[in-house]
Amino acid sequence: MSKLLSIGEFARATGLTPKALRLYDELALLAPARVDPVSGYRYYQPEQLDQARLVAWLRRIGLPLARIRVICGLTPLAAASEVAAYWRETESDHAARRDLVTSLINRLSRKDTTMVGERQLSIRYAVGTDRGLVRPHNQDTAYADNQLLAVADGFGPTGHNASWTAVGALRSALAQGDLLNMLTEAAVAARDSVRARVGDTPDGSGTTLTALVWSGTQLGLVHIGDSRVYLLRDGELFQITHDHTVVQTMIDEGKLTPEEAASHPDRALLVRAFTDNAELTEPQIHLHEAQAGDRYLLCSDGLHTVVSRDTLVSILTSHTSPDHAVAELVAQANHSGGPDNIACVVAHLDAA
Ligand code: MN
Repeated sequence: MSKLLSIGEFARATGLTPKALRLYDELALLAPARVDPVSGYRYYQPEQLDQARLVAWLRRIGLPLARIRVICGLTPLAAASEVAAYWRETESDHAARRDLVTSLINRLSRKDTTMVGERQLSIRYAVGTDRGLVRPHNQDTAYADNQLLAVADGFGPTGHNASWTAVGALRSALAQGDLLNMLTEAAVAARDSVRARVGDTPDGSGTTLTALVWSGTQLGLVHIGDSRVYLLRDGELFQITHDHTVVQTMIDEGKLTPEEAASHPDRALLVRAFTDNAELTEPQIHLHEAQAGDRYLLCSDGLHTVVSRDTLVSILTSHTSPDHAVAELVAQANHSGGPDNIACVVAHLDAA
């Protein structure tokens, strides 16, 4: 056995404090090789330095102690993938908070600004949903009124219940007043309603939900899953939602190109949705400034995976009536084989 290191020597070599080392011992993260029965002094083997440095690094990146304990028991390869998983969660949590921070900053700055010349916009909209040509049932829900535009893509045996429950709950939770507060409360209501509905018989059912709430000048976004919102502004198409999918996460991490993702076998696998699983249900909430002339498309993946961006642009640009645009979008998806249910909403914002 190599020469044991005192706790002081070991602490210096690892950059950990003796106090931290005592804590890690108590938590069974890093047990000393020997504890002197009389003095209680702790001694460590030089071979334990690697493990201690690993613990120190994991602490530095913010991993909770309980999770570090799990990682220390894994093979290096399994530990690597566990650290990667932790970091993905942290980054997606961070991204959700960044959206909220931006919205809050915008909202607080607006409160101090005299809104001169802010004009109300009028909204025209149309809704379409279709079973497609392959699926036996339609589990998608599409909805629009003067205040709410929404699509939801249900999955699992009771996916249809999940999708209309989400949209229905969002709709009944909307009220007048502060848009950001209202969105937050409505999103919680939608999530809880879906969980209550599918939680009775947990069978993997759930739904995406992508909705815009219209205040007259601003749009509030609630989004979870892989349905999308596109904005056509000045002839250019922007996707304003971020897919909560495994492949999008891989694209974000640089492991996959968007082109490879399009044909990836797991491209429909969601990392977040409203389901009976409480851990993966944090929606994206965001405030968006609308402009006269904006055209919005909300759609489920049954549309956006089979109809190209160029076709979306040409359909959204060429039709002055949202009804005609919706009809052509659904027809195009079915023309491309209609492999999935289709839900879409088109809304035009015009100067009132
Ligand atoms: Mn779908």
